Amino acid sequence: MGRRLEQLSKNRFDVIVIGGGIIGAGIAREARLRGLSVILFEKGDFASGTSGKTSGLIHGGIRYLEQGAFGLVHESIQERYTLFHLAPHLVSPIPFLLPIYRGSSRGPFTIRIGMILYNLLAGKQSLGRYLFLSPERVKQLEPNLSSSGLLGAARFIDCQMDDARLCLTTLLSAQKRGAEILNYTEVVGLLHKDRKVCGVKAKDAHGGVTYAIEGEIVINATGAWIDTVCQMEGADAPSSPGTNLDLDQTVDTRNREGAGEDSRVSEPNRAGRFAPPLWGRRIRPTKGIHIVLPKMTERHAVVLSSQKEGRVFFVIPWREYSLVGTTDTDYSGNPDQVTSNKEEIASLLADTMPYFPSISSEKVLASFAALRPLVNEKKENPLDLSRREKIEWTRGGMLVVFGGKYTLFRKIAIRVIDSVIKANPRLHVLRRPQPEPALYGGEMSSLDDYIRQEISRKTLPVRQGLLQHLIQTYGTNYEAVIACAHGNPDLLKPLTTLGYPLPVEVIYSVQNEHAVHLSDFMFRRTRLAHGPHRDSLPLIKDISEIMGAEAGWSKELIQKECEAYLAEIAP
Ligand SMILES: Cc1cc2nc3c(=O)[nH]c(=O)nc-3n(C[C@H](O)[C@H](O)[C@H](O)COP(=O)(O)OP(=O)(O)OC[C@H]3O[C@@H](n4cnc5c(N)ncnc54)[C@H](O)[C@@H]3O)c2cc1C
Repeated sequence: MGRRLEQLSKNRFDVIVIGGGIIGAGIAREARLRGLSVILFEKGDFASGTSGKTSGLIHGGIRYLEQGAFGLVHESIQERYTLFHLAPHLVSPIPFLLPIYRGSSRGPFTIRIGMILYNLLAGKQSLGRYLFLSPERVKQLEPNLSSSGLLGAARFIDCQMDDARLCLTTLLSAQKRGAEILNYTEVVGLLHKDRKVCGVKAKDAHGGVTYAIEGEIVINATGAWIDTVCQMEGADAPSSPGTNLDLDQTVDTRNREGAGEDSRVSEPNRAGRFAPPLWGRRIRPTKGIHIVLPKMTERHAVVLSSQKEGRVFFVIPWREYSLVGTTDTDYSGNPDQVTSNKEEIASLLADTMPYFPSISSEKVLASFAALRPLVNEKKENPLDLSRREKIEWTRGGMLVVFGGKYTLFRKIAIRVIDSVIKANPRLHVLRRPQPEPALYGGEMSSLDDYIRQEISRKTLPVRQGLLQHLIQTYGTNYEAVIACAHGNPDLLKPLTTLGYPLPVEVIYSVQNEHAVHLSDFMFRRTRLAHGPHRDSLPLIKDISEIMGAEAGWSKELIQKECEAYLAEIAP
């Protein structure tokens, strides 16, 4: 890594992106689609921040209708449709049930209006019509859901994704087009020239050496770490003489192509200089936790409402389990140390129990927590904070982006790169390719057709079920994964009773997916760390030895990797 960083430090880039979550990933891909040279730095593993710990939904966000955020919902529904076509192996439709109980704050009339609106906003990009189901039909479909006081349920379709893999896939799409993407490389400082930010100091986490990387534009896409990186610019970063210090540099982008009604982009002021940083912190981080439980529903995700707070939360089918979440509470601690505590887990269980009486704390398999980097608005309740992104320029000319939903990452990236191009007319830019290229591995018209087509091939390299798993994970790149076996059938035998992963997946993750540590594979290349095999020592040993052989680890290093991973999953 150090040598690569050293070589890269000899180049100059149009765009330097700090942060390898979904927002940074989307920006790197978009920059390459427009022909800009780009390098991205992530201090940990890709998607190790919020983007690997979400509810995994690519959705309109039906609950935002209550906030009147119709523009946000409309744009999110459009994106749901687009992402379903750009990455059909990772984004798939999932049916939702929204049960209606006697005495609940959202009664049948409210729900019906909500469904009509949701459907209208989807227009031609609807993935299926909504239905209203009788209590009997709900009971038939989801027998574990409490039927006490149940008046019926609305059924509608949204999409589900694997968040860590979609983030990685977006990064690999950028890399395939020439972007440089580096994980375990932290930006520890900024370079300045003539009072403007003109690059970063990037430190290789393993060698510990810091290199200066120069670029035309530096983009801060570090989510919950935004303010920390902005501070690197220096609280006393000078403003040019004559700079307009008017703080209200935020413009409404309602009439701009690609911008929703409440998205905000601040611009260089009329004098051609940049707005100063806003007073105080840019973001108000709110914490959300999830718990993983044995499968609770047959095939539906269920939208529920906390009887205590009225907060909407979900029970979502998640591989062989159910994912329950999330919460939304203010957080003021260190973003590197966000965890779910016993009280939060107990409270989320208490929210869920009235609807699924059979669950209990002993059944919790795993939990995780993450921070929403929301725009710092003057609102009391975190639930009322806007889910729109904000894009603004700092006094030193660094572009900062924060606050948006995962679902909107592609649109946010378009708006960010539009801002970059507008502020730098000298950049040589290409027209956006049309039709837009699929994400890495998503080059298929439909997942089902592609799986059918591959299954019908005369010689199948692996069993049908395995083939399905590989295609759903790697899309059209699945053959490259199988090729890592080099004809050795042992490398195509599943390592667990779940039917995955295969040894070749471990090898592929090191060779092609930037997996550096055992935890990267267990948490983000797969979800093994959240399932029943998370602490299986034979499995951990097998995987670490395969990774070790690929990456050239010594016996001691293999041991250290196992210990580090076990410490990470310790309760
Ligand atoms: C619990 C929860 C559930 C959610 N569920 C959904 C959902 O289902 N659907 C949806 O649309 N949205 C969802 N969201 C919102 C969405 O996931 C986030 O807004 C989005 O993931 C934020 O992405 P990001 O890239 O800005 O931040 P992050 O993913 O946190 O990425 C920022 C990255 O920057 C890196 N970084 C920080 N400092 C440095 C540095 N100095 N040098 C290099 N790298 C650095 C960090 O390590 C991190 O990986 C959810 C949010 C939460 C909290």
